[in-house]
Amino acid sequence: SKLKFIDKFREVENLEIIENKSDVKRLSKDFYNYSPILTEKLDECIADLVVRPSDHKAVKEVAEICWELSIPLTLRGSGTGNYGQAVPLFKGVVMQMSQFNKLEEFDPSTGFVKVQSGCVMGDLNKQLEKYGRELRLLPSTWKTATIGGFIAGGSGGIGSIRWGFLRDPGNLIGLEAVTMNEKPALLKFDAEESEPLNHAYGTNGIITSLLLATDIKRKWYSLVIDCIEFEKTIEILKTLTSAAINLKLGAILEEEIVDQMPKWFKSKSRSHKVLIQSTFGGIKTIELICKKFKVESTLLGEEEKLVNGISEVVWNHTTLHMRSRDKNWTYLQMLLPLNNEIELINFLRKKWGKKVLWHLEAVSQQGSPRLAALPVLKWNGAEELNEIMEDCKKLGAFIFNPHVLTVEGGGLGVVDADQVKAKLRFDPKGLLNPGKLEGWEVKEQFKI
Ligand code: FAD
Repeated sequence: SKLKFIDKFREVENLEIIENKSDVKRLSKDFYNYSPILTEKLDECIADLVVRPSDHKAVKEVAEICWELSIPLTLRGSGTGNYGQAVPLFKGVVMQMSQFNKLEEFDPSTGFVKVQSGCVMGDLNKQLEKYGRELRLLPSTWKTATIGGFIAGGSGGIGSIRWGFLRDPGNLIGLEAVTMNEKPALLKFDAEESEPLNHAYGTNGIITSLLLATDIKRKWYSLVIDCIEFEKTIEILKTLTSAAINLKLGAILEEEIVDQMPKWFKSKSRSHKVLIQSTFGGIKTIELICKKFKVESTLLGEEEKLVNGISEVVWNHTTLHMRSRDKNWTYLQMLLPLNNEIELINFLRKKWGKKVLWHLEAVSQQGSPRLAALPVLKWNGAEELNEIMEDCKKLGAFIFNPHVLTVEGGGLGVVDADQVKAKLRFDPKGLLNPGKLEGWEVKEQFKI
């Protein structure tokens, strides 16, 4: 019975238990409501209990109880994911890792940091400052999201222009995780062994700490370039990403999106915007490139010192601001076809008009500069959404569908055999976040 199972958790030391219905409901949700499709599927999915362990022994004991009673266990960082990654599909226990928040070690010879999985990225970056370092990659939710949630559920973001994506070799150096089996154990994984746990939505291990490569801490300066012609914004961004300057961010917002951004994001004229973060040394080169393109750039100042920085209107924060105006906005994520970006955008504009508004992000894809897009679109049913996705695919875009629940669906669309193998080894009963890995069939007893 439910009471009996809660009693078991009460016996665990250093474990906070949250039973209050409204808290359990809140902690069973993430930001899946950006997708009307996921909203319909997930609104009723609520855990039985939320627990917060503050040491490894408590983590192991939670896993042991879940194993013994065959209870699903879903990990949670800060619950800012957009795919319902942290939502328990089959009830059970949600384990929030927020008490695991220490920077354990920094190695100055490699620049690697060992940090506990529940550490908020904003706090981690602050602590890295004293070593003259910073995180290479940040989601635009870095002020609240955890590093463990980013590795297990995120992909890239601010910094991807230089460092690519979290799964690119060299970003994650190793990790420690507790297994979900009869005798849960804390295991150490090197870079290669960590790969199947990287972006697996916590389906094949309970990550307790991570070893990550960091970058030299730099002062980043934010600039906004005004541009009347949309096609030119793409040419400018491409020219900037191939120039010999250090960049942290490069994004394009179509003017109809700019109009919906917060008031502080004021502009001199109504135009499309290219948003750039570079080091101080890059500013003159950016200005020179702007002069050649006959466009104007405005230096806003050092990003960290701005009351509102441009980091707040990029990546999925663009969608956040659009949705704060009108909840009918949703979005897509894709890698645009190399050198055919504008053909794709023009085709979609002709067919879909202002139903699809363009937001682009410069990224490094396996070392090459590429453009990703997070267009926002007005929700008009799943059929129309699918047609828009099909149009993008036909024109060579690679879609990372944010309207699906599984690791595979939101990623490359194929089952990763190594992720499934890791699940078989570290979660043989399939108790960790069941229903999120397509390569693993969910057992009957968990069907809702
Ligand atoms: P959660 O949402 O709590 O968890 C994410 C996944 O990780 C879940 O599957 C969870 O089960 C698993 N998990 C959490 N902790 C552990 C653990 N210790 N062990 C194993 N599994 C674990 N994402 C990006 O990649 N880039 C962006 O730029 C970006 N921008 C965003 C902007 C907005 C406005 C919003 C709402 C979301 C955005 N996201 C982005 C998604 C999300 O914010 C990030 O991926 C974030 O890093 C997730 O961290 P979290 O702590 O909230 O994780």
